[in-house]
Amino acid sequence: MSLIVQKFGGTSVGSVERIVCVAQRVSNTAKAGNSIVVVVSAMGKTTDGLVKLAAEISKNPCRREMDMLLSTGEQVSIALVSMALQELGQPAISLTGAQVGIVTEAEHTRARILHIQTERLTKHLQEGKVVVVAGFQGISRTDALEITTLGRGGSDTSAVAIAAALKADFCEIYTDVPGILTTDPRLVPEAQLMSEITCDEMLELASLGAKVLHPRAVEIARNYGVPLVVRSSWTDDPGTWVTSPPVKERSLINLEIARPVDSVESDTDQAKVALLRVPDRPGVAARLFGEIARQDVDVDLIIQSIHEGNTNDIAFTVFTPILPKAEAVAAAIAPVLRSHKSSPNEEAEVMVQQNIAKVSIAGAGMIGRPGVAAKMFATLAAAGVNIQMISTSEIKVSCVIAAQECDRAVAALKEAFDLDTPHTPHTPPLQEAATRLHTP
Ligand code: ADP
Ligand code: ASP
Ligand code: MG
Repeated sequence: MSLIVQKFGGTSVGSVERIVCVAQRVSNTAKAGNSIVVVVSAMGKTTDGLVKLAAEISKNPCRREMDMLLSTGEQVSIALVSMALQELGQPAISLTGAQVGIVTEAEHTRARILHIQTERLTKHLQEGKVVVVAGFQGISRTDALEITTLGRGGSDTSAVAIAAALKADFCEIYTDVPGILTTDPRLVPEAQLMSEITCDEMLELASLGAKVLHPRAVEIARNYGVPLVVRSSWTDDPGTWVTSPPVKERSLINLEIARPVDSVESDTDQAKVALLRVPDRPGVAARLFGEIARQDVDVDLIIQSIHEGNTNDIAFTVFTPILPKAEAVAAAIAPVLRSHKSSPNEEAEVMVQQNIAKVSIAGAGMIGRPGVAAKMFATLAAAGVNIQMISTSEIKVSCVIAAQECDRAVAALKEAFDLDTPHTPHTPPLQEAATRLHTP
C-alpha cells in the first residue's frame, strides 16, 4: 500500500463529467489499497474569470481581497470532487488550506509555504477517507488566520509540499498533456514526450515558460526528494518522471523559504564579442543575430548599452571554442552595420575578450523576490568583483565577470546564500517508484 498525492489541474476538473472521471480514477487507486490525498485546482478558467471580475471593480485591487476572491475557485472544486467520490461509495472529505493547516507567509497573492500540519490529514487517511485538499491556498501564521494564495499555477506547489510533509511515496500531477514534452505541444505538435527529466532540466524549461509544472513545485521535490510524475488525466500512460538528487533529511519548517537560492554555478569557458558603435536604428540587432544564427553560432548572454548619440554597443558571450567563428561573423557584418547615412564616418568596431567567466545563482525561491538579485550584486561588490554583463530569468541571475575573479565570486556567493554543501547529481530509484505506482 502506498501513500499517494494526486493533483488535478483546472482542465482536469473543468466540467461535471471530468470531475466524475477524476473521482473514478481516484476511487480505483483507493480501492487498490492506497491512501490518497487529492489536490485540486479551480475548475477550468475559473481563476482567470475571478481576476477579470476584480479588474472590472478596481485597477489596483487590494491583495488581501484578491486572495479572498481567488481562493473561492478551489473551494468549489474540492466540494464537488468529494461529493463525486462519495457518490461512487468512496469515503472522502474536502478541506481548505486553512482546515489542513497549510501555513504560509503573510505575503498575499504570492505567499510561500512555511509548513504544513499533517495531523488532520493523517487522521482522515487513517479513517479510510480520501482527503480532497484545495490547492493554491494557505493561511498566514498570524493570529488573524488570513487566507493567502501561492501565486498563479500554485496548486502544483501545494501538492508537492503536501507530499513532502506526509513523506508520501510519490506525487502525481495529472494534467491535459501526456507529460513533459521537449517543448509546448500546443505550439509545436512534433514535441517529443520525455519518460524522465531531471529537476534541473525541468527548472530550465519552466524558466523558459513551460507552465506544465510550476518551478516552486520542482524545487520542493528536489529539496525533499519527492518522487514526482506528470501524467495525463485522460489515459493510463506512465507520463514523465521528474528525478531529483539524493537528499539529506531536512526540516519541514520554513519549507519554501529556507533557501531562496539553491545553487551557485560558474563557467570559465566563456568569451565576449562586442560590436562598438553600431547604428541605433530598428533592425540592427535582428540583422546581427540573424546572421549569427544562420552561421549556427550559439550565443549566450546579450547586452546592448544605451548611448547618448546615434550609436550603440552590442556585446554577446559565446562558448570559447566557437569564439573564432563568432568573431568572423561579427567582423563580416560590421561594415554593413556601419554604413548608415546619418553617421557615415562612424566606424563600428569588433572587440573580443577572453578570460571572462559567468557566475550564476539559481533557485525557484527567487521568484518574485527582487531582493535576491540585489543581494548577489551587493555580494560581488563587497568581494571587489566587477560585473560586466547581467542576465536574469525567473529562477536564475547570471553575471559575466573577469575569469581570475571567478573563484572569489563563487566563494562569496556560496557564503552569502548559505550554500556550502554541494549538490551531487544523482538518479533516484525511478524503477522502484514506478513499481510502487503500478503494484500497490
Ligand atoms: P493544469 O491546469 O493541469 O495545471 P497547465 O495549463 O498549468 O495545466 O499546464 C499544462 C500546459 O502546459 C499544457 O496544456 C501545455 O500547453 C503547457 N506546456 C508548456 N510547455 C510544456 C512542455 N514542455 N511540456 C508539456 N506541456 C507544456
Ligand atoms: N487556480 C490557480 C490558477 O489558475 C492555481 C492553479 O491552477 O494551479 O492559477
Ligand atoms: Mg498548472
